[in-house]
Amino acid sequence: MTNFSDLNLSSDIVKAVTGLGYEEPTPIQAAVIPSLLEGKDIIGQAQTGTGKTAAFALPMLQHIVPGKRAVQGLVICPTRELAMQVAEAMTKYGEARGTKILVVYGGQSYDRQTKPLAKGKVDIVVGTPGRIIDLVKQKYLDLATVRHLVLDEADEMLSMGFVDDIETILAETDPKQRQTALFSATLPHQIRRLADSYLHEPETVKIEAEALTVDRIDQRYYMVNHDDRLAVLTRLFEIEEMERVLIFARTRLDTGRLASELAIRGFPAEALSGDLSQVAREHVMRRFKEGRLKVLVATDVAARGIDVDNLSHVINFEPPQFEEVYVHRIGRTGRAGANGVAISLISPKELFRLKKIERYTNSQIKEAQIPTAEEITAKRNARLEDQMRVWINRDRCSKEKETIQALIDEGNDPILVAAVALKLAQSEDKKRPIAPVSPLRADRDRDRGGRGGGRGGYRGGGRGGNRGGYRGGGGGGNRGGYRGGGGGGGNRGGGGGNRRRSNDRNRS
Ligand code: ADP
Ligand code: MG
Repeated sequence: MTNFSDLNLSSDIVKAVTGLGYEEPTPIQAAVIPSLLEGKDIIGQAQTGTGKTAAFALPMLQHIVPGKRAVQGLVICPTRELAMQVAEAMTKYGEARGTKILVVYGGQSYDRQTKPLAKGKVDIVVGTPGRIIDLVKQKYLDLATVRHLVLDEADEMLSMGFVDDIETILAETDPKQRQTALFSATLPHQIRRLADSYLHEPETVKIEAEALTVDRIDQRYYMVNHDDRLAVLTRLFEIEEMERVLIFARTRLDTGRLASELAIRGFPAEALSGDLSQVAREHVMRRFKEGRLKVLVATDVAARGIDVDNLSHVINFEPPQFEEVYVHRIGRTGRAGANGVAISLISPKELFRLKKIERYTNSQIKEAQIPTAEEITAKRNARLEDQMRVWINRDRCSKEKETIQALIDEGNDPILVAAVALKLAQSEDKKRPIAPVSPLRADRDRDRGGRGGGRGGYRGGGRGGNRGGYRGGGGGGNRGGYRGGGGGGGNRGGGGGNRRRSNDRNRS
């Protein structure tokens, strides 16, 4: 085992990280810290959550002598949340040295950023590309003195269209004086090209991903019609204990809509999007971290700022366009030795994407079955029975007993009285109908607009039959096994060849 003290770090820095509870360096830290301390350029590739921040921050802090009245370190991050996180972490790591770190990003008042810069008080700037460029243009920030530069989450900057901005910033620095490190979860070829042009004989360190996430994550997918995704999601919420869930949606609009649709259906959820004010966003984040809010809906970009690592579930409301993004997403669960669940909702047309993801991650994503209405009802009943057992043990219902006794005294059968009480208690559930899910069909309506109507019906029928037949046969057994319930398997088999289009026929 490597210790922080084996990496040539100075004692105050070792003390700072051990003080934060870091017991040993993560693999990327152990691999790059000594090289960075030697002054080498680095390309560091490792997944989200592997400790890349400290990997570049500790050597940078060690190299930089505070109080030189010149900005010596620059860290470029794709989003303000990430910039804030990095700055916060660096401030903690460098506290004992008194290194001054300034975070700069769009949307924040210029004053707070320009004043310390003008006074020459800043040793390290952490920021987003746009604001860094603004400050350079306005002559508040001089990058000629930068000795250590980091491009953090480079792939994310690429996907956000920041490559030109990064080149602009790099051009402001002195290549002969600058040590450059690039960190990224993935290395698309544009990023490699950037590295080729701006890094000097870099050492490449790649930390393989497999064991880190994929093994600890139960990856599943559900085949759904595109318009049934919300319904399927609510069914999953009914069946599965989800403590801390992050749902990925494609657009900001989707996140808001999805969060409110879920809330309407009795599953409180909130959207985290760039539209929220900083205060509102922090408020939502805090509630999520503290477990008061269980479900958060975000886009990939917005989710980058979520520094919560004990997610029980990551849900792909639709599969991401790129395999790398899938890895980023599901890497948010199954961390720190915990198990996690990654669920993807996949329409028939998207199946190829899933296959690509499986190849890319070299892992298998198991098909799972949408809970049936019967299973959900059974679950609701089981939950109610559990609650009843708790109350039976507590035996704190003297008022209620009086009511029951009165009814029994009127000559009613005690069992009937209890049953009626239960029926009334369940009336809330009745108000939450189980969302209907239609049989699988090819996603015509969505992709071919006009032709959807008439043929949709026809196809729906035909397809449902086909799949039903197939599923009822081979699939049924598997699935029964997976869910651990023989009953479920049987149901499905029975529905096999059925062509009806009723509410709960997705599996038929
Ligand atoms: P990345 O940038 O690779 O996504 P971060 O640098 O944000 O990852 O680190 C993820 C989490 O791991 C943070 O909460 C950080 O405090 C923690 N962490 C980093 N290094 C260590 C370590 N050596 N031991 C324990 N926790 C660590
Ligand atoms: Mg990071």
